This record gives sequence, structure tokens and C-alpha cells, in this order.
Amino acid sequence: PGFVRALHKDYRTATPQNFSSYESMKKDFKLEIPEYFNFAEDVLDQWTKMEKVGKRPSNPAFWWINGNGEEVRWSFEELGSLSRKFANILTEACSLKRGDPVIVILPKIPEWWLANVACLRTGTVLIPGTTQLTQKDILYRLQSSKAKCIITNDVLAPAVDAVASKCENLHSKLIVSQNSREGWVNLKEMMKCASDTHSCVKTKHNEMMGIFFTSGTTGLPKMIGHTHSFGLGLSVNGRYWLDLTPLDVMWNTSDTGWAKTAWSSVFSPWIQGSCVFVHYLPHFEPTSVLQTLSKFPITVFCSAPTGYRMLVQNDMERTWKFKSLKHCVSAGEPINPEVIEQWRNSTSLDIYEGYGQTETVLICGNFKGMKIKPGSMGKPSPAFNVKILDENGNVLPPGQEGDIGIQVLPNRPLGFFTHYVDNPSKTTSTLRGSFYITGDRAYMDEDGYFWFVARSDDIILSSGYRIGPFEVESALNEHPSVAESAVVRSPDPIRGEVVKAFIVLNPDYKSHEQEQLKKEIQEHVKKTTAPYKYPRKVEFIEELPKTVSGKIKRNELRKKEWKTT
Ligand code: ATP
Ligand code: MG
Repeated sequence: PGFVRALHKDYRTATPQNFSSYESMKKDFKLEIPEYFNFAEDVLDQWTKMEKVGKRPSNPAFWWINGNGEEVRWSFEELGSLSRKFANILTEACSLKRGDPVIVILPKIPEWWLANVACLRTGTVLIPGTTQLTQKDILYRLQSSKAKCIITNDVLAPAVDAVASKCENLHSKLIVSQNSREGWVNLKEMMKCASDTHSCVKTKHNEMMGIFFTSGTTGLPKMIGHTHSFGLGLSVNGRYWLDLTPLDVMWNTSDTGWAKTAWSSVFSPWIQGSCVFVHYLPHFEPTSVLQTLSKFPITVFCSAPTGYRMLVQNDMERTWKFKSLKHCVSAGEPINPEVIEQWRNSTSLDIYEGYGQTETVLICGNFKGMKIKPGSMGKPSPAFNVKILDENGNVLPPGQEGDIGIQVLPNRPLGFFTHYVDNPSKTTSTLRGSFYITGDRAYMDEDGYFWFVARSDDIILSSGYRIGPFEVESALNEHPSVAESAVVRSPDPIRGEVVKAFIVLNPDYKSHEQEQLKKEIQEHVKKTTAPYKYPRKVEFIEELPKTVSGKIKRNELRKKEWKTT
């Protein structure tokens, strides 16, 4: 298929794409969707062949460290052989068949990547879950996905056993552990004798590949169905946004439970023949992250805005010299322009913001070679027709705020989800004319750059003004006393609703006189942004409520406001 040809042309020179403009990048984009596509065979095994004949640099395909001196490095060939063994365990010891749902709840250990590839090879449907799930969450996921198999470790196996009798579809359990456990197939034991001969199933491009849970920023996480072409769609991220080549080493810090990890730690780097780098850190520790970036030849780094916020607050006074880092990206939430600036001051690197959803691949991005406008999400991905729409589905002109929509009719674009699993009414409710409505508000400027305003639910309507919290938060965060903030609507007898800011103070400011400080912060916002946006109410709190992946849950703060009055 066309994409393999495109890859081959590039990896020989292994130079970055170096597009001179957004238009030249768009012109480069040409992706034929083959009838059959399986990422394991059509991408990974292709790289193995290239590796064998010396047509790929001697960069590992997978490089894992745990910070305690343990290290794993696999070539594409080793990844292939180990994942074929794993695939045989899935079909034999776990009796799984093509199309069977498999839940994988593992921390960032190498077996998680093997499980991903083994599911691709067997055509089983991968459902990743975060290790922070409780017994109740696991039951919800097992039942709602009708999983036939679960793969997890010692820590979570007892929780699975406690609920397994309530899950009638669950017929096999695979444990990643040094110890055996009754009723469980032991992966490490089985790997010792499993055969590494396996023939990959020939999956259709539109056959179900995985189910991903959304982050749950606005409520219970939703289940999103993706087909085998998802991996192909993610070449858009890999080639245009992450700027990856086979010489690159890519580190993305997100948790194994989210689609973001499929994006940036599986499909996007591997389709480009790059190395997937993983530092197994149970928690995001800024100092360890900075040290790893200095010590290892990581060239491309991706973290959520909350990660960058922690990094710039921690020891960034000094100038960091990273060994090989050349490209930094962020996605998942808007990133405050101030953080981009601080990061640039201490590293001389820009942060290329991208915007997307679990439902999609990258929707908008700042692509290499494009001028960055700090605070903007960049321009639409070449794979999507992205427009700003009014409530009737009309396309709005530049400068006008509306809903971000992606054209999905007559043809659903590549990398686009199939449906919200078990929720057909939700699936239809996101359609407006021939567009899918993302639930996010934005406007496009005269140059075609998109500017995120807010999630539709987060918009504040005060005295006839529409206010997006992010702009106010960015103004607040510029004040030296503010470590982090979240802005929501709060009831007001005259204005209907007003802007309220929840602020986490920097430690040095906690002892300051609070009323005085509030006034000072309010004055600061009035000066930095249009005065009508300033927070009329301010509350200092110790911590902001966040999702597991670190996103601010404004809806929790908002709900409290509206309940107490
Ligand atoms: P849920 O749908 O369960 O409430 P979620 O929307 O946070 O959770 P994800 O699919 O992980 O789940 O996140 C996608 C959303 O994240 C987008 O719809 C958008 O609101 C936000 N987002 C992602 N990237 C950006 C960005 N660069 N700027 C602003 N918002 C972003
Ligand atoms: Mg969402």
C-alpha cells in the first residue's frame, strides 16, 4: 500500500520531513486505505525486514528503563518474536478467538507493549485500563465490554477474582508475575516454552481493533470503538506532528490506560520506524523526568500540560542541556502560553501543541515548519476537514466562536472512531449535518489557526458575555502567587452567573494576607485580559480535582458552586 512506499522513501535518508509550509505538508499527505490492514504484519514486520537488511539505523524499536538500573531493549525482530509467543498464549492457553475482547490492566512494563502487539496479531480486541482502577471500576469495565480475558498483575488480580463470578463472559485470566496464582495462566512461565511461530490474522481495515475509555473529565469514561485503520491514521501524528524518523527516540509520559498511549507510545512512533522509549515511573516526578531527558538520547518528548507545568515549576531556573532532545509536544488540555515561554527560556525548545480526542487521531496541531502562535492549537490535520460551526451546522467565518466539527459524511475519515460502544444515542447526538461535533468550542483566525475556547459545558455566561475559563486561568497563572487555577461559573443573583477562580497558591504566598492577595490577583487579571473576564469570586484551595491523567475536572468544582446556593 501507499503508506509503506511513503515510509520507505523516508527512512532511507532518515531525515526529518522538513516541510517548508503547512501547504507543502498537506500536499504530502496521501493515504490510501487498503482493504486489509494489520499493524503487526504490515508495519512492525516490515520494519523487521528493513532492520535485517541494514536499511534501518541500529536504534532499538523499544527501550525501557525503570530508574533502578533495569533496562530492556528490543529490536523489531525481538519485538516480533516475543509478541508471536504472546499471541500463541492468547489463542492456546487463553482460548481466545479473533474478535474477542481482552482487557489489559498493566503498569508501564514491557509486557504491556507485547500484549498490544499480540492482540493485533490474533485479531482480539484490546481494551486498555489504568492501574488506578478500583474493584468497582474493574467490574464496570469487565461487564460493559463483555471481556473474555483479562491480563493484569499481582496487585490487581485479587480485585479481579473478587468480581469475576459476576462476569459471565470472562473465561480466562492471564497474570504477569513471578508467582503463580490459582485460576490464572502465568505469562512468564508460558513464554518460556511458547512457540514464536504464528501467522498474523488478516484483518480488514474496518474490523474492530480496540476499545478505549475516554479520560472521564466530564463524567463516567465513555467507551470508544476503533478499527484496525486507527494505527494507520496515527501515521498522521507520527509523520506530521511528532516529526518522527527511524533515527528518533520518542518518550511520551502518559499512562497505559488511555488512548494517548496508543497514540504516542505505540502506533505513531512505530509506523515511522522510531524507537518507543519508556521510563517506568509510578508517578510523574519532575526531577526524574528532567534527569532522564538529560541522560538518554530522547529526541522527541510528549507530556500533558500538567506535566510541563510541574516541570517548569521544578528546578527550571537553571538551563537544562538535554542530550538529544529536539522536539517537544503537548496535548490533552490547553497549555498556558506562559508555560511554553518558561520551557523555551530554560531549554531553548518550543512546545508544539496538538489537539485531539480519544474518538479521533490528531485534529489540529502545530506542525514542524509552521510558525507557532503560542496559545493556538495550530491548524487542522491533513486527514480531517475541520470547521467552526454554528448551532445549525453552518460554517462560521474567521474570528467567530463556535463548535469544532469534523466532516464525517459521506465518508468517515481515517482514524475516526466507529461508535460509542453500547451507546447509540450518544453516537447519533454528536452528528450535526455531515459533521461530528467534538463538544469543544473554538474560533479560527484569519491565518487559519484554531484557538481553543473551552469545552462547551465550561463556558461561562456572565451579563451577556461568553467567557472561556482557559483564558482567565492563563492570566491568573501569570501572577507569581498562583501555582495552578481552575475557573468555573458560579451563581449570582444579578448577573445570573459570574466567574469564580479556584487557586492553588505557591508555597511562599500561603502566609500572605488573603483578602489583600485576592484583590491583587483580581487587579492583575483585569490588566492582563479584558476586564469583564476577571474573577469576581476567588477561593484558595490546596489542590485541584483532576482525572487520573491529570486533567482539571472543572465540572466537580462547578457542581459544588451550584449545590451550595
Ligand atoms: P470525557 O470525554 O470522558 O469527559 P475527555 O474529553 O477529557 O474526557 P479525552 O478524549 O482524553 O477525554 O480528551 C479529549 C478532550 O481533551 C478534547 O475534547 C478537549 O476538550 C481536550 N483537549 C485535548 N487536547 C487539547 C488541546 N490541545 N487544547 C485544549 N483542549 C484539548
Ligand atoms: Mg471527551
